[in-house]
Amino acid sequence: MKPELTVLIRLQGIDLEIRKLKGEKERLPERLNALLEAIDTKNEEIAQIKDKLADLRTRKTEVEDELELELERLKKSQQKLSAVKTNKEFQALSKEIEEIKKANKAREDEILQLEEEMESLKQETEKLAEEVKGFEKEAQAEKKHIEETEKELDKKIEGLTKEREEVVKEVKPDLMTKYRFLAEKRAGIVLAAVDDGVCSACNMNIPPQMYNELLREERILYCPSCQRIIYALKT
Ligand SMILES: [Zn+2]
Repeated sequence: MKPELTVLIRLQGIDLEIRKLKGEKERLPERLNALLEAIDTKNEEIAQIKDKLADLRTRKTEVEDELELELERLKKSQQKLSAVKTNKEFQALSKEIEEIKKANKAREDEILQLEEEMESLKQETEKLAEEVKGFEKEAQAEKKHIEETEKELDKKIEGLTKEREEVVKEVKPDLMTKYRFLAEKRAGIVLAAVDDGVCSACNMNIPPQMYNELLREERILYCPSCQRIIYALKT
């Protein structure tokens, strides 16, 4: 193979590795971001449940206050009962007492129901808070992992960049210009091996005459379909 192509293949290898490492670095915060989003969602859920709990607490206080007043009224009505003179009065007051008792029973039931509902909501918030704690712990660990991995990746990228600088020195400027242009247009894959007359990058046939020229390795040739720099794969 022409030595200038060997150098370019090395350069491409370095560039692809740098590209891969930079991609890894970019994707590093993905898991952390998902965790932080999950924490936000859970915290919103907790806030909503707490709002609902506050509403239920207000309602419970209302019903309790009503019940207290009505129990007072009941006591008074019951005291009056012993003092009534007529049967008619007795009937009316008895009826009133029954109604107060019935209404109070409904109040007591509602208070119990509210308490049950509040208890279950409290348990739900506790469960969610536990989940948030777990996520936060995970996020902390993930942050540490990101920092460490980032350092490792930076070190690798730095090493490769230095290596690249040395390799680039061996490439003629006009070839380097072409390399840079193709690297940008072809996602970093600048060179393509031609195997049995077929470009391995775009899978198109190389014209026979060109393929023969390629085998002679006299000058740098480009794939007529994808424009990549081609070299003959020799087995
Ligand atoms: Zn091609």
